[in-house]
Order: sequence, then structure tokens, then C-alpha cells
Amino acid sequence: MTNQPITTSVFDLFKVGPGPSSSHTIGPMKAAFDFRQRLSSLEPSIQQQADAVHVLLYGSLSATGKGHGTDRAIVAGLLGWQPETTDPDALLDLLRDSSVSYPIPVGEKTLELEPQHIHFERKRYDSPYANTMVLQLRQGEQVLYEEEYYSVGGGFIIRKGEPDVASDNQDVPFPYSSMAELKEQLKTNNLTLDELMIRNEMAITNRSRADINQRIDQILEFMHKAVRRGLRHKGTLPGSIKLTRKAPILYQKAKGMSQSSDSFLIFLNAYCLAASEENAAGGIVVTAPTSGASGVIPGLTYLAKHHFHHDKLTLRGGMLAAAAIGFLVKHNASISGAEMGCMGEVGTASAMGAAFLTRCAQPNGSISAIEAAAEIAIEHHLGMTCDPIGGYVQIPCIERNAMGAVKSYNAFLLATSGAASVQKISLDAVVKVMKATGRDMSTKYKETSEAGLALSATEC
Ligand code: SF4
Repeated sequence: MTNQPITTSVFDLFKVGPGPSSSHTIGPMKAAFDFRQRLSSLEPSIQQQADAVHVLLYGSLSATGKGHGTDRAIVAGLLGWQPETTDPDALLDLLRDSSVSYPIPVGEKTLELEPQHIHFERKRYDSPYANTMVLQLRQGEQVLYEEEYYSVGGGFIIRKGEPDVASDNQDVPFPYSSMAELKEQLKTNNLTLDELMIRNEMAITNRSRADINQRIDQILEFMHKAVRRGLRHKGTLPGSIKLTRKAPILYQKAKGMSQSSDSFLIFLNAYCLAASEENAAGGIVVTAPTSGASGVIPGLTYLAKHHFHHDKLTLRGGMLAAAAIGFLVKHNASISGAEMGCMGEVGTASAMGAAFLTRCAQPNGSISAIEAAAEIAIEHHLGMTCDPIGGYVQIPCIERNAMGAVKSYNAFLLATSGAASVQKISLDAVVKVMKATGRDMSTKYKETSEAGLALSATEC
């Protein structure tokens, strides 16, 4: 495992933006936005020679980028749009008409980006990451300037030649890079997990405690808005599968059976499906830790707020515990479906959800129980492949979020039923196994839609 301390902000893990895929939508949008900024500061002599901008997509971005809306996200970023403030309807309108081009300012001149300038490359490309994109400023066939970006999951990007932008080497008062180190920090400094997370976050972001709390509340509200929209929206989702939205159906059913012991699970399923269906429709969601897995935590937090009536303080503590687990997986394995398969996305979300529930149920937060809950949830997602049909984040993704949340709940129950202290496998060990399993998994099962369920597309 890497020994660099974790310096990711809670608000980089929980990012607001349009669905359906943080690695294929939010990441590319951010990369294109960054490229646009860089074009404006090039030498005027280079700017003057340029006559086109071209975008080359490789790996999983090429294989499933169409279904994930990667091309639209890149146009949006080049137009100067940012994920959090993007209007999802306007995003869906981009590239609808193939005769429309898009103005990109380059110094004093404006270049027209044409749809055919976005290339879904089929050839292999020598790159350290599965999701690679190259943006070029050209004069005819000559490349005047280019940047290479990697979308590493959860909307995080790395520009070639730079360290991971999320790990910007800021000093934190309580450095840790593994669960073992986190536990040591808590013990040595006699801190709760909430307090350690808040104090590190203050150092990373220069925000005040009040500001951080307010932002966590806002993030929860963004999540719950997605749930509420999804519970209302009926009909079919965009794309060739013509998948019917199920959240409103389940919600009505749950409301009609409130005396039944099953209703609690049907409510939870409805909330998770609601947020996931909004994500699949390109609506605004919160990466948790990714967009593909953005139904698990919203579903659980909605349940915690409206069924368990947890107060704001408790929900914030739960979110910080979830973030701690997300950080550890991202830092020591990966949260990208293109690197780890779905165990990196829904598996991580499920572990974060288990930590959330455990912290909420135990105000003084036993770190051993939180660790055990997160470990159990990951352990039972190991080897889970990513094989979305047609490249759409719909099947298996939407139901998988509901299943991930149910596993969170059971992991929380298993860990808090008095057995946490005898848990044999540590979180660090299972994350290590996840990384090794992801490395061994065939590329076909890592967000390329070349195997598994994706091959059943013709039967849909
Ligand atoms: S199968 Fe899992 S990892 Fe793959 S796109 Fe769907 S949610 Fe993401």
C-alpha cells in the first residue's frame, strides 16, 4: 500500500454533477474544461495557427463512452460548463443534431468543434489507466498542442505528468493512509472519527467547521432531491434498452403495505432505485463514490432521515464515516469500474453505506464496528464484474445499487451484533485483495460491455 497520507476532500469524493457515469461523464467534462483553460494561455503564435480541436478516447471511454454520454460531456467541458452547475436537459441536447458545431475560444479566435472531431479509438493505447483521453489542438494533421488525461473513477482526473490531483500533498493534522494508521491516530490523539475527519477536512479545504457541516447538509439535500425526483418520474429511461423506471412503482407498493415487515426493504429499494434511475437519465446526482453507484448512500441516508429520524448531527457523522471508507479504498485500490469492475463502485458504496449505518447507530462510534461493517460489505462484493448492457448505466447498475444497500444493512447488523471484535479480516487486508482481484480480472469485465450481461443485449 502507498504510504502517502490521504489528502482527498470529502467534497471531492461526494461531487455533484450530471449522470450517468462519474468516470465517463464528470471526469471527461472536467478534463475538457481544464483543456479549454489551458488553450487560453497558450502562446498567441500557436493559437493563431490552430484550425481544430480533436478529442481521442481510449479504453473503456471508447468502449462504453457513447452509452455513457462521454462525447456530450466533453463538448460541455469545452464550452466551459462545470458539472455542479450543468443543466441536465441542456447536456442531453448537445450532439443531438450532428450538423451542429460548437464554438471553442482559443485566444483571439474561435474554433468550431464538430461532432466528428471526437474519436472513439478502437486501437490499444499505451496508458497507465483504463480511461484515457487525449485532447489536441491541431492545424490540419499537425498537432500543435495536446494534453493527456486519465479519468480514474468518481469524477477524479489526473493530467499526464502531474501527480494525482486529488492528492495535492497538503499537510493534515492527523495523517493516515490505511485503516491501521487511522485507528492509531484515533487512539493516540483520543479522538472520535467525526472529529479527526473534520479537522483533516479543515486543513485540506481551509473551510471552517461550520462551513463543512453546512456543505455536508447540502450534499445530503442534493442526494435526497435525486431520490424525490426519481420517486416521481415515471416512464422509460433514455437509450435503446427502453428500461421502465421502477422506483415510483415500488414506492407506491411500499406505502400500501406499511404493516408488513417487508415494507422497510421495499422502501429502501425504492429510494436506491430512484436515485439510480435519475442518474441513468442524466439527472443531477452526487458521486458516492461514483455516479454508477450513486443510489446506495442516497437510499440509505434517505431511510435514516425519514424512517429512523436521525438528526443532522448523526447524519453528518455517518457521512464522515462513509467518506473515511471511500478514501481508504480509493487510496489503496480504486473506485473505478474500469479498473476494479463493479466491486470498486457498488462494492465501495456498499462498504461506505455499512460504515454510515454503523456510525449513525453508535453516536460514540466504535471504529472497530465501523471497520468490521465496511470489511464485510467489501468482502461480499469481491470479484463483481462490470458489464453494463449497451454501455448504459442501467442493467445491472440500477438494481445493483439496491442490492448494495441491502448488503450495507446486513453488514451493519453483522458488525454490530457483538461480533466486531472477533472479525478475522481487516479492512486493509480486504482492500488489498480487492486491488489484486481487480488486476487479475479480465478487461472484458471492466466497463467495456464486451462480456457477461452485456452480451445478453440482443435478448432485451
Ligand atoms: S456495472 Fe457497476 S461499475 Fe459497471 S457501470 Fe454499472 S454500476 Fe458502474
